[in-house]
Order: sequence, then C-alpha cells, then structure tokens
Amino acid sequence: MKYKAIHDIKPRNDKAAKMFENPVLDRLTNSHASIPISMLTLFGLGFLYWGTTQSALNLGQYASLIIIGVLAWTLFEYLMHRYLYHMLPTNKFKGWFQYNMHGLHHEYPKDKSRLAMPPLAIIAIAFMFLYLFKLIIGDATYGFTPGFLFGYAGYLTVHFIVHAFQPPKNAFKVLWVNHGIHHYKDPDVAFGVSSPLWDHVFRTLPKKKSK
Ligand SMILES: [Zn+2]
Ligand SMILES: [Zn+2]
Repeated sequence: MKYKAIHDIKPRNDKAAKMFENPVLDRLTNSHASIPISMLTLFGLGFLYWGTTQSALNLGQYASLIIIGVLAWTLFEYLMHRYLYHMLPTNKFKGWFQYNMHGLHHEYPKDKSRLAMPPLAIIAIAFMFLYLFKLIIGDATYGFTPGFLFGYAGYLTVHFIVHAFQPPKNAFKVLWVNHGIHHYKDPDVAFGVSSPLWDHVFRTLPKKKSK
C-alpha cells in the first residue's frame, strides 16, 4: 500500500476501517474511548495513592505537580499530533506508523471505535511514563505522572465528545470548530484538541475567515 501525507487523505463518511484481517487482532485495536479514559483516570489515582506510600510529598506539592502534569500533557499532545502523527510518509515505516496511528482517523473521522489506543497499550503507556518521569524528576513523578495521565484522559474525552456530539452554544464551541477545520479544511492547522493554547503559542490557529 502506498501511504499518503495526511493533507492528501480525503475524509470518508463510512466506518469499519479494518486495521487487521485477523478478527482477534482487529478487535484489540478497536475499543470504545470510555475504556482508555477510565483506565487512565484509575491509573492516575492509583499512582497518587502509591506515591503516598513511596514518597514524602505533601498535599501542596501534589496539587502543583498535578497541575504542571496536565499542562505538560497539553504541550505533549500538541507536539505529538503536529510532528509525529502528521509526519510525512518519506519511507515505508513512517507511512505505516503515521497511517495506523492517525491517518486512519483522518480517513475515517466518523469511526468512533478507533479514537483511542487499545487497553493493553494504555497499561504500558501509564507505567512507561511513571518510570520515565521518575528517572528525570524522581519522586515528583507520583504527582506529575497522574496529572499527565489526567491530561491524556481529558484529551481523549474532548476528542470523543467533539466527534460524537453536536457543538454547544458556548465558549467550548471553539473546540468543535477548530477540530472540524483540522479534519475537513486544513489538516496543517489546529493541532491542539483539548485546548487551542499551544496553537496560539506556535501560531497554528486556523486563519479567521475574511468574508
Ligand atoms: Zn479527530
Ligand atoms: Zn490530525
């Protein structure tokens, strides 16, 4: 299969994109977003509790680390989406990775069963971040990683809601508008899903209509 750059993928209206012919493998890649969202929340809470037995962090430190973790997630989300998920398919591996991680979602934006990583991957990701951040910031990981995972859960929630429901008539509408533009008009703008913060910072907000 020849892989396309994401801005060359035409969004389709149908569902049922199969990633694997094998039904068992395919089932593993196909989960309702609520499963990873609850898993990430539970891992976050579990790591917080674990931290109380492993470290001497106080309540104030936990609170600040959680907030910093959430913010760090939003930056991570932006950079991943912009540079990893949208990388050009300049070789076969990059094309395969980009298509399966994200191109598929751009081709079938209406397929709500493939908005999130499969549960097994979520477990690996949660522990990977806990230990990775432990290497960098030590015991602070027990506050930072939960914040990071809550940010991840928040991102999946927003992404699911934006695809599954009509936009509300309030300030949150901008999330629907920006993500709609990302899918249907210009995939090279609006990389932030959970918030437009980093699009603002890096100047990738959609251009205002000039009519
Ligand atoms: Zn989307
Ligand atoms: Zn995208």
